Amino acid sequence: MREISHKLAFAHDVAPTRYSDVFDPNNGSVQARVALGDAALLDKAVEAAKKAQPAWAMVNPQRRARVMFNFKALVEKNMDELAHLLSSEHGKVIADAKGDIQRGLEVIEFCCGIPHVLKGEYTQGAGPGIDVYSFRQPIGIGAGITPFNFPGMIPLWMSGVAIATGNAFIMKPSERDPSVPVRLCELFLEAGLPEGILQVVQGDKEMVDAILDHPDIGAISFVGSSDIAHYVYKRGVDNGKRVQAMGGAKNHGIVMPDADLDQVVNDLSGAAFGSAGERCMALPVVTPVGEKTAIALREKLIPAIEALRVGVSTDPDAHYGPVVTAAHKAKIESYIQMGVDEGAELVVDGRGFTLQGHEEGFFVGPTLFDHVKPTMRSYQEEIFGPVLQMVRAESFEEALALPSQHQYGNGVAIFTRNGHAAREFAARVNVGMVGINVPIPVPVAYHTFGGWKRSAFGDTNQHGMEGVKFWTKVKTITQRWPDGGVGDAANAFVIPTMG
Ligand code: NAD
Repeated sequence: MREISHKLAFAHDVAPTRYSDVFDPNNGSVQARVALGDAALLDKAVEAAKKAQPAWAMVNPQRRARVMFNFKALVEKNMDELAHLLSSEHGKVIADAKGDIQRGLEVIEFCCGIPHVLKGEYTQGAGPGIDVYSFRQPIGIGAGITPFNFPGMIPLWMSGVAIATGNAFIMKPSERDPSVPVRLCELFLEAGLPEGILQVVQGDKEMVDAILDHPDIGAISFVGSSDIAHYVYKRGVDNGKRVQAMGGAKNHGIVMPDADLDQVVNDLSGAAFGSAGERCMALPVVTPVGEKTAIALREKLIPAIEALRVGVSTDPDAHYGPVVTAAHKAKIESYIQMGVDEGAELVVDGRGFTLQGHEEGFFVGPTLFDHVKPTMRSYQEEIFGPVLQMVRAESFEEALALPSQHQYGNGVAIFTRNGHAAREFAARVNVGMVGINVPIPVPVAYHTFGGWKRSAFGDTNQHGMEGVKFWTKVKTITQRWPDGGVGDAANAFVIPTMG
């Protein structure tokens, strides 16, 4: 059986004692096993990082940026191989796998400009003969813990900015699709990154806990489900670390009566069912405003959903592929049953879907519920599958309240031709990322990604200037160069002011 291992800066010859299966979601078989590391392995990785990091922090930012340029070119050269590898473990279709990697590369493009954002601030003459300047220095050693659903993009969100700002970085990918982060690490080394600056440790909760407790890791970035994000945040902060922990989501698409419904149906199909709904910025809830909108939308939505093609991840015509594991498929189907039991109307049922020749694959057909109520548990919780729930609203205010009052606050979209309604919605909705006629409002790399409420713990977002702030600490220097005179001795005991 193929074995997937860590990518370390030292020879590691201790045989693993624990493994986790990596499936081929297209046919349900175990295609490889990944070695699960422990605290002793992490210790060695941190030692290697500690040795390498001070010299890397001294490399001037322009040279660090050159590594980013080289890496970007290498990823582009190897895009097909990376996308196939990603798709074979995750199950998303190849075009979508390329998008996953490309979104990560856009953060690397931001990192190519790192000299500019690290320039710092300077005030000449803040007081008599006094200048004040500040600059940002790396934290030292950072770690990233990532989810299964974006094995290319999310490791690059974290590692790119952490490395470009002069840190050493230890990545702990999802044990469900662990290969792409290892390949990315190899390409970083080929791009000229010194050994020890980026390492990949494989593992599960045991490794996560070791990271959270390691005294030499200064900052931890986590993306995954909310309960674990909260746990990671609390334990990391208790240990005195800087932590950002992104959690789950339940994003709503609000459809106003004046929206272009053909466009909405097209957008919703991709945003609700693309990647089998396994995206934290998917749109699993649609809220038409007014009875007429609901009827018209439903009429157009049903044939569009029934026309979706579910296929193996290498099928170029498939809209989406299998979900990641049999356990996840069972969880999604149990939520569908919950919706039925709670009294929602199951309009299109994706359970029991099988693909000829791939009967053991982890496929779930597209599913549509109507008349879902905010009191239902199947609405309140994240399903993370190809399931679209229609929650009807009678007014703009009622529609605005739904995402605003939901426990998650990652993304939301409004579809309308009315600029005033859109503006009002964007200003008042209690959610971190808003799309106006944009179904998946993932911000570009030089802006910043992060939700609100239980979708994110901590106070800085991923990438852009927020990422730079997270991976660096600011140092402020107040300087005076003696001009030969003696200071005002009488005032030496008073707190200095510039007044
Ligand atoms: P997950 O929470 O199961 O796993 C995330 C990471 O935590 C993995 O590396 C895993 O090994 C580790 N982990 C798992 N159980 C643990 C435990 N008990 N203690 C400590 N660590 C543990 O998430 P997932 O299923 O891989 O990913 C899907 C989730 O991620 C969804 O909830 C999705 O909404 C969320 N997500 C959020 C964002 C965002 O930016 N807000 C982006 C992508 C995915």
